[in-house]
Amino acid sequence: MRVLLPLGLDLAYDYRPPPETNLRPGDFVEVPLGTRRRIGVVWDDDADAPPADPEKLRTVHGRVNLPPLPASTRRFIEWVSRYTMAPLGSVLRMAIATPSLFQPSRPVITYALSGVAPERISPARQRVMDLLRDGPPRTAADIAEAAAVSDGVVRGLAEQGVLEAIENDPDAGYMEPPPDPDTPGPVLSAEQRAAAATLVGRIGGGFAAMLLEGVTGSGKTEVYFEAIAEALRRDPGGQVLVLVPEIALTNQLLDRFETRFGARPMAWHSDLTGRARRAAWMGAASGAARVVVGARSALFLPFKALSLIVVDEEHDPAYKQEEQVIYHARDMAVVRASLMKCPIALVSATPSLETMVNCWTGKYERVHLPTRHGGATMPLIEAVDMRREDTARGRWISPRLEADLHANLEAGEQSLLFLNRRGYAPAAICRACGNRVMRENCSAPLVVHRFGNRLQCHHCDFTMPMPKVCPKCGAEGTIIAYGPGVERLAEEVEARFPEARVAIMASDTVRTAREAQAFVERIEKHQLDIVIGTQLVTKGHHFPMLTLVGIVDADLGLSGGDLRAGERTYQQLWQVAGRAGRAERPGRVLVQTYMPEHPVMQALIGGDGPAFYRNEAAEREQAGWPPYGRLVALILSGVDEAGVAAHARALSSRAPRGAEFTVLGPAPAPYARLRGRFRHRFLIRARRGVDLQGLIRGWLAQVPEKSSVRVAVDIDPYSFL
Ligand code: ADP
Repeated sequence: MRVLLPLGLDLAYDYRPPPETNLRPGDFVEVPLGTRRRIGVVWDDDADAPPADPEKLRTVHGRVNLPPLPASTRRFIEWVSRYTMAPLGSVLRMAIATPSLFQPSRPVITYALSGVAPERISPARQRVMDLLRDGPPRTAADIAEAAAVSDGVVRGLAEQGVLEAIENDPDAGYMEPPPDPDTPGPVLSAEQRAAAATLVGRIGGGFAAMLLEGVTGSGKTEVYFEAIAEALRRDPGGQVLVLVPEIALTNQLLDRFETRFGARPMAWHSDLTGRARRAAWMGAASGAARVVVGARSALFLPFKALSLIVVDEEHDPAYKQEEQVIYHARDMAVVRASLMKCPIALVSATPSLETMVNCWTGKYERVHLPTRHGGATMPLIEAVDMRREDTARGRWISPRLEADLHANLEAGEQSLLFLNRRGYAPAAICRACGNRVMRENCSAPLVVHRFGNRLQCHHCDFTMPMPKVCPKCGAEGTIIAYGPGVERLAEEVEARFPEARVAIMASDTVRTAREAQAFVERIEKHQLDIVIGTQLVTKGHHFPMLTLVGIVDADLGLSGGDLRAGERTYQQLWQVAGRAGRAERPGRVLVQTYMPEHPVMQALIGGDGPAFYRNEAAEREQAGWPPYGRLVALILSGVDEAGVAAHARALSSRAPRGAEFTVLGPAPAPYARLRGRFRHRFLIRARRGVDLQGLIRGWLAQVPEKSSVRVAVDIDPYSFL
């Protein structure tokens, strides 16, 4: 029988089945591998595989007590492996990437009243008794919190036998009550009702892909909640998966969901404890978790039966995983839905061009919500032409923006300054020789952090103090922080608005879902006047008191120059703009730019999304870029520079040729050295319909692999660094 191991291997290995066990595909088993025992999954037979020599087979040790990996998940793993060209075993590893899966959790102990009266009653004890008399059994921690008593009180009552301990099966795991689809939701507007009806109409009808597009605040979430309700109602065993790009967003959505459906959905993200992961995995497998809200890896959970997938903020670049198995979760979600024969809704105010084009060609159905809910108007967006503003050197807030910030502060309203640059400054530069301080052996830029005191790499955990002497020319005291980051902007804001309450929201100040929630609460409770944020603030939050958004450097994203620079800038700035003026209060957005005539800026200022998409599509189509053409990147890396270069040359000499595609490179990557590894890139550009995977497989097969050089294949690349 074939057993697939969660290792970087493309093959399932043959084993002899153990006597007297009836193992079937999907079952978890323990097998010998070399001198070790490993856990793998019994894989389906492959008629094409050469028969194994029965004499040489080793025997499966036995079954591991876990629910089997469903056939639909196995087919999905195969599909992802074929498409991304990642080894099958690496994709399997993502599906079971929770080491705790194989360590049965200890039982969960809950307490109920035993009927024995306490020796002595105190107010604290009374509260515990009252709590348990009226409610279900609870854990000790839960009792202590709900009855506002110390752990000692609970322990004392348990020792006296007043509380009876109940052992619960940890893998029944998921103990939340199921969401109730029939709790009444808000009354939808006519426009929302029409959109919801389209989504609802597709539930139960097999695979269908839809784009739910609508400006921020138009009620997209409320609309897809209706579709979730219908999915839950229609199929009592069906499950729903909602993907979100950022774990910071999960909590907010969990809360909204709970308000709407009376129960929390299951969460899945990297912050979960081992026990919670195991419970979540089990809940997905058993079907007990009816709704899962999760980050991209939730796609690989072993769902029993999906009846709807929602991909919120479908345009978000965070859906692309850039390491190990390189895949785009939005695209793979569409595949998952088609394999599961269920509908999928892609949701965004600023859809990706890929999705837009799929709507234009009729592959996806477009459902549109053009107006904000409850009569809120879209903010007024104005360009601030920085060529005409007299902004002092070393400052980033123009007189125009400053005046508006003052006025907003005086009116007691909140403002947001957007600058998509973490840290204090993007570079440290020597004033004497112009040298940019870099780390030896690395071409990723070092970023100035902690208000000018340290240099930090954003690609690894390297940090160093800001040097006092230029490492290149030896001049002393000449190293300066160059350009603005959010910390430096905060410094400027604090100097100019000493009375304002200011805070920074960036991935290094807000690291976990909990911290994000706390931060969002500070904004909602109006404990802050000016929020300074990176792209983290662009995502899905509602701030009713926020009426002014200042985009500090709107041109920043355009300078990167990759094929999606314009699209990303448009999406990001439009999303930030959408944070302003949600309720009764109208919002204003000031866009600081040196190129107000640029088509992206024009589309933003004119609020003309369709113009932007038309323009962008025409340019891409003419140049044959995605989604009108296809791209694949090959990234070669290794610690030995000559070895990497030689392998690149060897591949280059065998590069395939054809009229339908071009192989560009090899060339040193823009980050020619990263984390100590030298990097070379190829880029393959092809017409649509070319079997790029086959082409690349054939190409790579002609050049013997070298253990010292890693070759990563990036199908549909989003990063070109
Ligand atoms: P989007 O996802 O498009 O940004 P949301 O669904 O988050 O929009 O809606 C924006 C805000 O308006 C939320 O606070 C939501 O609860 C509220 N809202 C939307 N539609 C309705 C409605 N029909 N009735 C009441 N409140 C609504």
